[in-house]
Amino acid sequence: MPGVLKLRSAGGQAAPLRPLHGIPITEIRSVGDQRARALRKAGIHTAEDLLYYFPRRHVDRSDVRRICDLMDGTDVTIVGTVHSAGIVRGKRPRFVVILTDGTGFVQCVWFQGYRYLQNAFRKGEQLAVSGRVARFGSVWEIAHPEFDRLGMTGESSGIHTGKIIPLYPSSQELEAVQLDSRGFRRIIAACLASYRSAIRETLPEDIRERRRLVTLRFALENVHFPASLEALHQARRRLKFDELFYLELLLALRHKVLERQEKRSRVRRIGEATRKLIQALPFQLTAAQRRVLREIYADMRSEKPMHRLLQGDVGSGKTIVAAIAMVMAVENGYQAALMAPTEILAEQHYLTLRSLLSDLGITVCLLIGGMSQAEKEAARQEIASGKAEIIVGTHALIQEEVTFPALGLVVIDEQHRFGVMQRRLLQEKSPNPDVLMMTATPIPRTLSMTVYGDLDVSVIDEPPAGRKRVKTVWRDSSYRPRIYHFLKSELEKGRQAYVVFPLVEESEKSDLKAATDCYEKMRATMFRHIPTGLLHGRLPKEEKERVMREFKDGRLRLLVSTTVVEVGVDVPNATIMIIEHAERFGLTQLHQLRGRVGRGAEQSYCILISYGQLTPEAERRLQTMVNTDNGFEIAEIDLQMRGPGEFFGTRQHGFPELRIADLIKDAALLAAAREEAFRLAEKDPHLTDPAHEALRDYFIRHYREALDFVKVG
Ligand code: ADP
Ligand code: MG
Repeated sequence: MPGVLKLRSAGGQAAPLRPLHGIPITEIRSVGDQRARALRKAGIHTAEDLLYYFPRRHVDRSDVRRICDLMDGTDVTIVGTVHSAGIVRGKRPRFVVILTDGTGFVQCVWFQGYRYLQNAFRKGEQLAVSGRVARFGSVWEIAHPEFDRLGMTGESSGIHTGKIIPLYPSSQELEAVQLDSRGFRRIIAACLASYRSAIRETLPEDIRERRRLVTLRFALENVHFPASLEALHQARRRLKFDELFYLELLLALRHKVLERQEKRSRVRRIGEATRKLIQALPFQLTAAQRRVLREIYADMRSEKPMHRLLQGDVGSGKTIVAAIAMVMAVENGYQAALMAPTEILAEQHYLTLRSLLSDLGITVCLLIGGMSQAEKEAARQEIASGKAEIIVGTHALIQEEVTFPALGLVVIDEQHRFGVMQRRLLQEKSPNPDVLMMTATPIPRTLSMTVYGDLDVSVIDEPPAGRKRVKTVWRDSSYRPRIYHFLKSELEKGRQAYVVFPLVEESEKSDLKAATDCYEKMRATMFRHIPTGLLHGRLPKEEKERVMREFKDGRLRLLVSTTVVEVGVDVPNATIMIIEHAERFGLTQLHQLRGRVGRGAEQSYCILISYGQLTPEAERRLQTMVNTDNGFEIAEIDLQMRGPGEFFGTRQHGFPELRIADLIKDAALLAAAREEAFRLAEKDPHLTDPAHEALRDYFIRHYREALDFVKVG
């Protein structure tokens, strides 16, 4: 590739000092072998890593409440000295630490999980504790507070007793080597004292000035030991900007690479087959589907490869859009491949496409891991000879040794289920094919710009006509008998239904058992007369296929399943979705499952059954499901609840997790970072300008994997 960004650091002008990332943590005062081991486990290998280990929060002493000023029911932070600590026996045994700040006493109480605390406090030690205070008679109490050690009373070192004190995330392993907040304060202060002059500025001067950002050295010093609240704010602002800037720079550079690509597989016309396919559909395409198809067609005709993300809520009809795009490719002499995340879904797509396209004389072929060696070999040959025009499969498409002589279009269904590498491997089966990625996880538009800033986005924003809203109810397990009665009466009316059990990895076996037991019991009792199937990931492929086929053509009426039906499955006559242990599912997952019903004209139901006492988060998820069926709304709430890192699976996109910035809360800073990053990529697309050396060095070290994605370097 011409003019690529090289991964070697620019030789010659070595930095005057040893760089921070070249200083192993063992060189930092009071970090011995044991601590080094624990730190490495936490991902901290060098002085740089340590300085980028940010406090989770700070205690601002001027904001600390005096005990004599406490008010019942408020959330507070107080700083006090341990007066006594010990277990109080009685009807409800508990662990109590009594603190005083000279103006009064507070008791911190733990009712559970205090075993590890029992010997953890020393009389005279200073603690910062936070939580909600309650008054019992004359006693102030905070139950299960958050606490941090500040130091022993009278200790002179300013780092524990200053005005604004950093509190660090820790873990049992880190605490075992005394790396709690207090320990981290010590080693980070030591690190700054020895190596502050090795902090190199990474951002070009002009960006810092335009955006009024403090220097990196100021930021790293003040994010740990802020001189004032304002200094802390500026430090955080700078570090957040950096994170967002590198992320956007990555997208900007990817964008540049994509812009330069040319494809071989240009589509020149829409032919007979495409027209016939559209005419033969048993329904009219919605306006949104037609608009999206025009966007896709424009991309496929252009000289540049398509990189388009197709968003559309569950059931909005993405498959048919993909099918039409694939036929357009085939008509122009290219092969098209569709990759789906599960075998069940791949097979379903295969069957749908085959029945849609066989009359048009288009050859569709399936390749999934579960096929026999002989079947796979036959498929590979069909693909390699060019006989297979549309190829549907799972990961097998990339895992197996398959060559595509004329791959022009790659479609990736439920793209969020795949990692960067997997998507890329399929694209590499041909020089720069058109790529269409589909997802039912809608993303607020501003955010999709950020996370998919290198892609074009199309949205199907209307459901097919005539769909009824799925009625969603959430019931406690005590309603189970009534629910199953209702299920029975609906099944007797000729409907089909799913009963889904969660499958959590750690307890995979017992959950599988839950589904199997339920299936056995149903068949033996109430549902004796209803043809019922069982579906889970461990079944042999033939069995899965048979069950799915029979459910699809109505021979089976009830499907007891683990989450393997979560994505993509399409059986319009199914109208009831019962989700057992709904409290264990994520919001997006629940929405996907509900999307399996409500695909036909009949009224559909989604019944969420929860067990036991729920966490507030679980309650909010279930209540959200009852309140709305709008995928965008649900995605937004999911995003709020889980945070962007987990929501997007940022890892999958090939960039490190955000540690300090928040894509939503820091939206304004994000926009600024984006502007600067795109400007920089325009000016210096290979980051070869000597003024960008420090930036490039940091960027390449931290985003190596992601850069690899676009083969920049
Ligand atoms: P998803 O977007 O979740 O992948 P599907 O592509 O599986 O949705 O489509 C859901 C169902 O809607 C399918 O049965 C499909 O045949 C049907 N469908 C798609 N487009 C239309 C339309 N314009 N009118 C009516 N039904 C449609
Ligand atoms: Mg789908």
